[in-house]
Amino acid sequence: MITDLWYKNAIVYCVAVESFMDSDGDGVGDFRGLTRRLDYLHGLGVTAIWLMPFQTSPGRDDGYDVSDYYNVDERFGTLGDFVEFTHGCKQRGMRVLIDLVVNHTSDEHPWFKSARSDPKSPYRDWYVWSKKKPKNADKGMVFPGVQTTTWTYDEAAKAYYFHRFYDFQPDLNTASPLVQAELLKIMGFWIQLGVSGFRMDAVPFVIAEKGPDVGLEPPSDFSMLRSFREFLQWRKGDSIILGEANIVPKEAMKYFGDDGDRLQMMFNFHVNQRLFYALASGDSGPLAKGLNETKTAYPTAQWGLFLRNHDELDLGRLEPEQRQKVFDEFGPEKAMQLYDRGIRRRLAPMLKADRRRLELAYSLMFTLPGTPVMRYGDEIAMGDDLKLPERYCARTPMQWSNRKNGGFSTAEKTYLPAISGGAFGFETVNVADQRRDPQSVFNWMERIIRMRQEVPEIGWGEYRVLPVKDPAILALRYEWRGNVVVFLHNFDVEPKEVAFRAEGTDDEPATLSNLLDENHSDPGPDGRHHVVLEGYGYRWFRLGGLDDILKRSEA
Ligand code: BGC
Repeated sequence: MITDLWYKNAIVYCVAVESFMDSDGDGVGDFRGLTRRLDYLHGLGVTAIWLMPFQTSPGRDDGYDVSDYYNVDERFGTLGDFVEFTHGCKQRGMRVLIDLVVNHTSDEHPWFKSARSDPKSPYRDWYVWSKKKPKNADKGMVFPGVQTTTWTYDEAAKAYYFHRFYDFQPDLNTASPLVQAELLKIMGFWIQLGVSGFRMDAVPFVIAEKGPDVGLEPPSDFSMLRSFREFLQWRKGDSIILGEANIVPKEAMKYFGDDGDRLQMMFNFHVNQRLFYALASGDSGPLAKGLNETKTAYPTAQWGLFLRNHDELDLGRLEPEQRQKVFDEFGPEKAMQLYDRGIRRRLAPMLKADRRRLELAYSLMFTLPGTPVMRYGDEIAMGDDLKLPERYCARTPMQWSNRKNGGFSTAEKTYLPAISGGAFGFETVNVADQRRDPQSVFNWMERIIRMRQEVPEIGWGEYRVLPVKDPAILALRYEWRGNVVVFLHNFDVEPKEVAFRAEGTDDEPATLSNLLDENHSDPGPDGRHHVVLEGYGYRWFRLGGLDDILKRSEA
């Protein structure tokens, strides 16, 4: 297998242009500001930036309501600024992925305006209509509690239109060949401007059959995914799609394709929920099971591994008692919860900024099978602002320093206020201070990312959960090209001794070299390793003596 699939060992960093750096003092982040921060991201070890939507939009769902797919929203800059940005990334060897939000448009998109105003409009069929209110109109809402229906009557059109999300996000009729051709054109446009692929929003809804008569579990047209991939690879061979689909593993495999011929990457929501359950309960059993259930059959397929993203932590697929446990531990108050299924907080406040637990969580994100996807602010353990509605609480300005607006902007008023005061305010949590402190989360993160990049086995290798007695311990072993690495994580607050066989390639018990400190491990007389992990402790080991520690496979 060739090893130039860049995404298999990338460090992905998700950023909203709006939130990162304001270069012109208008209170909103912009491409120029972001471009000035590229050295910062490069220095942190980021190899790919995932940009949240930045195209022209009324901004009613933070840009996930696009009104012009071929432009940059003027609040963030111009297409020229965008190309300067992608060029700056390229100079530093960093890739750019952008959000592709094509399940729906904004209701202010000219296509929808035309479609609703005239039944003969060429765009009428680009959306999904019904003369009568469909019987399932009050089912299938993505934002329960905020959204009350999936079909809304439009006076101008004299018909109901379908919207899986908010009513200002009419669904595109993605089965239409004309719509599909347009989607390819959108991808082709941004590929030409320097991106390496897309984080495809809401994939299950894009490929689902839509219409007034379809049932609650409509069939999916997977051939669409294959045609997206073929098109992209024809235009630019190494471009990829990272799919957002919160689905069960068996379904997810269909998104990768039986021959690995559909999406290259998918977010691993299945593991994400079980990981939070393990952090909340100290029981890594369901997580271990989840890892076994999400083994991909095809080597080009890769999971995106994440902790928190810009949405709520969706716990909808856990067992009720498991879900309750996570709520109890990490989001006990109503104000912390969202859409009857999730928690809207950032990670650091959930873990009460407990440094041991933060390291445990991020160590897992960097060592579980897949490509780690961080979120801006993770590297300094930023907090949230629960006074803000819905998911906005975790979308506040990046905290650069203890200056006005956390150094994000010189404006009097910013798009959202920077978090100020308290344990997570910019006065306490900011990049400038953490940079100077060798013990900071920031410096820890930089070191752990560096080490992750020196362990290609995680992205490429075969993995196995090693049998250990205590469910508080997760022991994970990877093997690739004759190299073995082993990771241990203790989900319990108490120290634990763990005994296990590292299982070398030639079955000889061998030393495990610690990749992060001097705590190496030699096998005992029984051939097993006996390691004592501190409460919430973790270990990164490479099989082999210290002389071998820099041993790497040929690229
Ligand atoms: C995105 C959300 C967005 C929604 C509608 C999601 O899956 O992650 O942030 O609100 O799609 O586009």
